[in-house]
Amino acid sequence: MITCKNCKQALQPFIDRELSDDDIVQVREHLDACSTCLHLYDFEASLRRLVRVRCREQIAPDDLRTRIAACLAVEATRITKRPSV
Ligand SMILES: [Zn+2]
Repeated sequence: MITCKNCKQALQPFIDRELSDDDIVQVREHLDACSTCLHLYDFEASLRRLVRVRCREQIAPDDLRTRIAACLAVEATRITKRPSV
């Protein structure tokens, strides 16, 4: 049986699914037996979900895309106007 300290350390990799099968079983067993760590896990997991949703929402919002397109257009004009050597 792992300790609360071990469990806390394993929580992030557990949520990221980076643990070995053995470790996953150990953490699960601890979470079943320990409500303190279970709450911590719930908190971390919901935080993670929230961050993931927020990140997805913020990938290239329309005005950013427009700004990037404008920059690229300016850059393209600058390059084509440059006299060829
Ligand atoms: Zn615990």
